[in-house]
Amino acid sequence: MTQTVLIFSNSLPEDQKARLAERYDLADFSGYADPASAPGFDDALAKAQGAIGVYMPWSADLIERAARLKVLSSVSVGVDNYDVAALNARDIALGHTPDVLTDTTADTAMTLLLATARRVVELAEWVRAGQWTAPVGRDQFGVDVHHKRLGLVGMGRIGAAIARRAAFGFGMEVVYHNRSRKPDTEAEIGMRYVDFDTLLAESDFVCAVVPGTEDTEHMFNADAFERMSPDAIFINIARGSVVDENALVAALDAGGIRAAGLDVFQNEPVSPDHPLIGRNDVVALPHVGSATFDTRHDMARLAVDNLIAGLEGTPMPACYNAADIER
Ligand code: NAP
Repeated sequence: MTQTVLIFSNSLPEDQKARLAERYDLADFSGYADPASAPGFDDALAKAQGAIGVYMPWSADLIERAARLKVLSSVSVGVDNYDVAALNARDIALGHTPDVLTDTTADTAMTLLLATARRVVELAEWVRAGQWTAPVGRDQFGVDVHHKRLGLVGMGRIGAAIARRAAFGFGMEVVYHNRSRKPDTEAEIGMRYVDFDTLLAESDFVCAVVPGTEDTEHMFNADAFERMSPDAIFINIARGSVVDENALVAALDAGGIRAAGLDVFQNEPVSPDHPLIGRNDVVALPHVGSATFDTRHDMARLAVDNLIAGLEGTPMPACYNAADIER
């Protein structure tokens, strides 16, 4: 019998959707901002052996209602939207998309770092508003990036790619903090391992690139911002949950840090009324770390490869919970 695949976001280009349509019955909810409340969703969920998409949270309750689900394929590397314990309890394979987005996400981190230090958004708006009426002076100056110290919190795939760009491209000194030390990457990049508090105290730029987990929740809280230099710039390319946003607003308001560059927020899409939005010392992006045509296509292809392999019973190219389930 033909298996059913539930599509729960608009993240699949037509050629990748076609690969699924050749093999499976598709229950396609990609047109809905909130697929879980769309008509027919509950029936499709109960029927589906496979599901693919991104952004929609999969709680234990939703997973329980997906009675026949064998493979859940996320078009993302981060798996914070999924109750992994509930998936493991049912031996449901969780596919994700590491590696293919690493360089693009590292580029976005550098974009945020440069844009924030050199006030790119604020000054571009200033030009557009007709305020460039005389040569610029101190009021428009930014701070240097090159040869400054970057503190990376998280030294996985993306952390290492940011470190290479910073060290080899911008002559920055890189220090890092991670759950485990990475001697090979340290030697390759010539960077130092430091404890979290030292990194906060000594870095000109602090960049978060850890996964969103219970352990990392609000890792950047009032205490962390107090430890940073008043000249420090904070970059978050990881997940909104790693930052206590009220503490960040307070730190910016008090001049405890200089500025912040944020790709991710606790609640997305972030409201324009949020206190972090609309201020010159924050560069805010709409979670576009991996959002280029090439990379999003590569992610979709890998996610479809994962789903097909999982449903056909062959090894998935990137299964997040392979070690924790029986197949
Ligand atoms: P990764 O290779 O798994 O790296 C994550 C690193 O974080 C690992 O080195 C891990 O340590 C470290 N870590 C985990 N918990 C920690 C903790 N409590 N304290 C210190 N270090 C900790 O993942 P990745 O591919 O680099 O991606 C990292 C994250 O970036 C993803 O999970 C995702 O949330 C985010 N991301 C965001 C975007 C975006 O669009 N903004 C795009 C892609 C990814 P170990 O080495 O000891 O395991």
